[in-house]
Amino acid sequence: MSAYERQLQELKERLREIYDLEHTRALLYWDQATYMPPGGAAARGRQIALLSRLAHERLTDPAIGKLLDALRPYEESLPYDDDNASLIRVTRRIYERAVKVPSDFLAAFSEHQATTYEVWAKARPENNFALVRPYLEKTLDYSRRLADFFAPYEHIADPLIDFHDYGMKVSTLRPLFAQLKQQLIPLVNAITSQDPPDDSCLHRHYPEAQQLAFGLEVIQRFGFDLQRGRQDKTRHPFMIKFSLGDVRITTRVKENDLSEAMFSTFHEAGHGMYEQGIRPEYEGTPLARGASSGIHESQSRLWENMVGRSRPFWEHFYPRLQALFPEQLGTVDLDTFYRAINKVERSLIRTDADEVTYNLHVIIRFELELNLLEGELSIRELPEAWRAAYQEYLGITPPDDRDGVLQDVHWYHGPIGGAFQGYTLGNILAAQFFAKAVEAHPDIPDAIRHGDFSVLHAWLKENIYQHGRKYTPAELIERVTGNGLSLEPYIRYLYQKYGELYTL
Ligand code: ZN
Repeated sequence: MSAYERQLQELKERLREIYDLEHTRALLYWDQATYMPPGGAAARGRQIALLSRLAHERLTDPAIGKLLDALRPYEESLPYDDDNASLIRVTRRIYERAVKVPSDFLAAFSEHQATTYEVWAKARPENNFALVRPYLEKTLDYSRRLADFFAPYEHIADPLIDFHDYGMKVSTLRPLFAQLKQQLIPLVNAITSQDPPDDSCLHRHYPEAQQLAFGLEVIQRFGFDLQRGRQDKTRHPFMIKFSLGDVRITTRVKENDLSEAMFSTFHEAGHGMYEQGIRPEYEGTPLARGASSGIHESQSRLWENMVGRSRPFWEHFYPRLQALFPEQLGTVDLDTFYRAINKVERSLIRTDADEVTYNLHVIIRFELELNLLEGELSIRELPEAWRAAYQEYLGITPPDDRDGVLQDVHWYHGPIGGAFQGYTLGNILAAQFFAKAVEAHPDIPDAIRHGDFSVLHAWLKENIYQHGRKYTPAELIERVTGNGLSLEPYIRYLYQKYGELYTL
């Protein structure tokens, strides 16, 4: 065994222990969010924090830095996309980022986040922004300091964006989102000036058991593997992985709203299939996860919207749904149902928003974050700036802060900046990737019409899933599309679909 082989083996052993600590922590979190009785909360918080600390200590161990240095000549002797070269390169990126932030800063910030979350959980139902304001001011200060550990930077939000969407920059995202906003506002205006479709068929009584059965039936047809995953109920749906052989999704059922569990199941299954599709050889390494938040969200949105809200999909599955719910849907025709699940409306809550208005909710938050980080906007002015942005972009003003600036947990349980752009990147990329898949296999829409997703799933696995985190988001987009990030397929998709649903 050569010296390089020995060093690589040691690196892999260390990385596997970090992986196991992180994924054991994930299991504790999953249990907390699904089955844990309330009495477990205090100890669980402590146990999760301990595993986080142990994983972070092992990742920032100088021995990892030494191994990475020693392996540099070996890495450089290999082709760029060789698995070992990629493992060393990606590990170096993660290691260099981790060692830049002092652990006492991290500990203080995460303690502050936990406190802020508690205060927010009280402030939101009370509609009391003033209560949480001093904490949010401190969060803004922490967020700026966090970014400053990565100076020099082009924009103060760039290092925060890097945590979620590595390599994406404000200088790319700001003009891209401005362009998207310009396209969306007139589209929303044109749609909402017409009579809204009747979506009362979605709000009849739908028993939970049949809803869950239908969702599971569909996602198995998509390609979600129940031998290597499962679904449970939770309050806020999410996907989480314990290993490549155990990928969990969660959902939330409302018996008076058919779309709630159904589309969140399709969405989370999209995230889950991505993780299940990563090459098994990457197990136990930093390559065994999705490339970024934006790429991950593209996979959930693709299955939720491009497939799950499409007409071909329902041509196949609607008779099945009617058979499960004959009293509720027996007399509702496909057209009415299809229009109901694609209803567009001006609304206040991001997570309930339709496909067309959703990005405006995200862009509002992204722009406010930039203004806060740049010092152009103060926390005191934030609620008013929120209302003004909703009026300007969505033509609607939140009646209170509860459904305004207090609605999302993100700023109250993490840094300000870096998290929201991934949602809109996901929508844009879902359209780019789907268009590419259909270009390669023009029979995909017809296969979907017959309930067959095998060609689409195989294409996604081959082009996206299998690579895990081997490539940066930009590299992956380039490899898959032959181009960079582009709005064009998404705008075309929206105009085509909603042009048929509404008169545009
Ligand atoms: Zn998602």
